[in-house]
Amino acid sequence: MNDFEKLASGNYVFPRAAENVSSEEKDYYFSEIKKILKESNTSIIAHYYCNDAVQELAEKTGGFIGDSLEMAKWGKKSPFDRLIVCGVRFMGETAKILSPEKQILMPQLKAECSLDLGCPADEFSKFCDEHPDRTVVVYANTSAAVKARADWVVTSSIAVELIEYLHSRGEKIIWAPDRHLGSYIQRTTGADMLRWQAHCVVHDEFKSEALSKLIEQYPDAAVLVHPESPADVVARATVVGSTSQLIKAAAGLEQKTLIVATDSGIFYRLRQSCPDKELIVAPTFGEGATCRSCAHCPWMAMNGIKEIYAALTSDDTQPYSITVEENVRLGALKSLNRLLDFSEKKVASGR
Ligand code: 13P
Ligand code: SF4
Repeated sequence: MNDFEKLASGNYVFPRAAENVSSEEKDYYFSEIKKILKESNTSIIAHYYCNDAVQELAEKTGGFIGDSLEMAKWGKKSPFDRLIVCGVRFMGETAKILSPEKQILMPQLKAECSLDLGCPADEFSKFCDEHPDRTVVVYANTSAAVKARADWVVTSSIAVELIEYLHSRGEKIIWAPDRHLGSYIQRTTGADMLRWQAHCVVHDEFKSEALSKLIEQYPDAAVLVHPESPADVVARATVVGSTSQLIKAAAGLEQKTLIVATDSGIFYRLRQSCPDKELIVAPTFGEGATCRSCAHCPWMAMNGIKEIYAALTSDDTQPYSITVEENVRLGALKSLNRLLDFSEKKVASGR
């Protein structure tokens, strides 16, 4: 059985989370890592779902924390020779595709994503071949090979706008891999979308019934939901958006209590931007619950301070280095560049 089959049959064994470091260890590693980064012209890029200590390290060493689109843009523009990408593999691959001249390291190359695992390139390519009249749009949470097969790559922060644009041109869409995000976009835009059926192991577990009960308990709370969540959870949202959109919205909300249906790693930034608000993680229990992830991505949790230190100090960087075959990279670059151009035009037009 490959990882995709194991995941589908419930036999996938999730990896162990990175060990926490004590506060003395943290001081030691932070100061050592800071020196190494400076000497080797390296910077840390971390996703909002990483553990608190990893986000803090990125912050304190002049690195970057962001959503998947912002990570890609920052990596491309940054002047560093080397980037250490803390997140999951597709994020490291995206950095390599956009910046082939840079060395891209990851603390854990085995940090997967269930959406990426749930969309094997050969099966997906066959599916696309069966529908040649459709424009192929894939989420950033896919392998480089799937991106190379696509016409467009999108992230959750720009997916609705892009599909609206394609729909307005009369294009019919193949969407992959997230079934919930695809269904949210389809409901919002009315586009003709044929949807792949993978899911995120974190967001798929939020439960609407338990959420309704929590809302009854906190009637004045706002509910923030990432669109990788099921439709009945999205239906209870005050705000639906990507990680950065949720963070931005949270600070402007008048409600003092926020119920948050996305990975709990986001609380690190939410605590900074909303210090006066009470933050509650949305429930992953109730009928049908397995709580395999309990609102924290098991692969994001593999990134730890000791793992970052090991990647930066190893004599052999190969076990930490992202590589992408050149013909695949060029194919993926074409669809990623379309995303970046579309996003730049959106920014320029002030939308
Ligand atoms: P964002 O694009 O909202 O950061 O979400 C991507 C994601 O799911 C990372 O796990
Ligand atoms: Fe993938 Fe979900 Fe983890 Fe994001 S949170 S990396 S979508 S499994």
